[in-house]
Amino acid sequence: MSTTTAAPPATLASDFYGVQTELAPAEQDQVLRIREFLEREVRPIADDCWDRAEFPHHLIPGLADLGLFGAHLPETARFENGMLYRGWVALELARVDPSIATFVGVQTGLTMTAIAGGGSPEQREQWLPPMGRGELMGAFGLTEPYSGSDTSRGLRTTAERHGDTWTLRGAKRWIGNATFADVIVVWAKDVADDQVKGFLVRTGTPGLTVTKIERKQALRTVQNADIVLDGVEVAEEDRLQRVSSFRDVAAVLRPTRAEVAWQAVGLAVGAYEAAVAYVASREQFGRPLGSFQLVQDKLAESLADITASIALCRRLSLLAEEGNQRDEHAALAKSFATTRMRATVARCREVVGGNGIQLDHGVARYFADAEAVYTYEGTRDMNTLIVGRAITGIQAFV
Ligand code: FAD
Repeated sequence: MSTTTAAPPATLASDFYGVQTELAPAEQDQVLRIREFLEREVRPIADDCWDRAEFPHHLIPGLADLGLFGAHLPETARFENGMLYRGWVALELARVDPSIATFVGVQTGLTMTAIAGGGSPEQREQWLPPMGRGELMGAFGLTEPYSGSDTSRGLRTTAERHGDTWTLRGAKRWIGNATFADVIVVWAKDVADDQVKGFLVRTGTPGLTVTKIERKQALRTVQNADIVLDGVEVAEEDRLQRVSSFRDVAAVLRPTRAEVAWQAVGLAVGAYEAAVAYVASREQFGRPLGSFQLVQDKLAESLADITASIALCRRLSLLAEEGNQRDEHAALAKSFATTRMRATVARCREVVGGNGIQLDHGVARYFADAEAVYTYEGTRDMNTLIVGRAITGIQAFV
């Protein structure tokens, strides 16, 4: 278990160009509260939770008290905040624990955003306030065993309406938080019009089976599940009333993709900070590793990757704030930041030597987690194809 008790810094040395200082004073204060909570409550247990693949449920009230569930929604926002703040919070979470960042992302960025965007005013009122308080947990069921990158056209889960009841049949895979969620937003194709609709499926509903995915080697603290829907009945009043096609699902994913780009930066920062600390204390040839030019080269390159990614994500957040963020903007940031993250964690693992593959020395968890962040919310390939379509006007998905 790694332990850290020192007060966290007010600014991060890895925020080389000082972007955090662009946050409003109230946002900066809140970032420091979040940073302090993460250092005190999360960092000391992060490696052990990851090692045992157990989710620390006792953290949920504290995360809720910090306003981390639904900071972007009128029903649940604790104070006025902007897009840069929301991105920065994703960085802070992933810097300490990418699994906790993912957990928060599923609850708020995916599930609450889907209910907020696709739900009726009554559905918003019913679900969002208790989810914001951390009393109800949500999951987002889009990916399927046979449909991952091609969910826009390949979903096989079906929904059939009889009167005021829908019957769902199919399977979902990789669904985060689903083992303990109270509600799962399930996306399924309406057999009548072949369009994707969204359903609020309460866990415990007959016909719904949720099975934890074991033996994962990334984001082990996140509880991902395989789901089977075997004739699950859902009332029409639990269908997301403002979703009529996959276009509405894509609208949910756009801001989430931007948030994952910020997560990637935080993950890279976490690995980089661990590497910087390690090379200061470890000696070889009678000198600290940090005194060798080749080691400094890897650190400088990593800092360049982090700094470029922060600058890119910062502008992406401002585009969203102006209402000018397009799909290809979020896709470019996600693919760039995750690619640079992957290069950074590899370099940081390298300078920690053999100890770099063991949890106790600070970089191994980030190194492994990077693979999942690189893959979810659209793989690098998918996001590159979105950018390629914007450049050429030609879609090259198939
Ligand atoms: P595939 O689609 O099978 O792709 C495999 C490879 O083929 C990839 O490299 C891909 O880029 C490449 N490829 C596919 N099509 C093309 C093409 N046309 N051209 C070039 N290359 C191509 N989903 C949810 O719905 N909810 C969740 O909460 C959730 N959480 C997740 C958490 C974790 C830890 C992970 C790993 C996944 C999660 N996912 C979730 C699923 C995630 O979104 C998918 O894994 C992702 O979209 C990729 O799909 P896939 O794994 O089926 O890969």
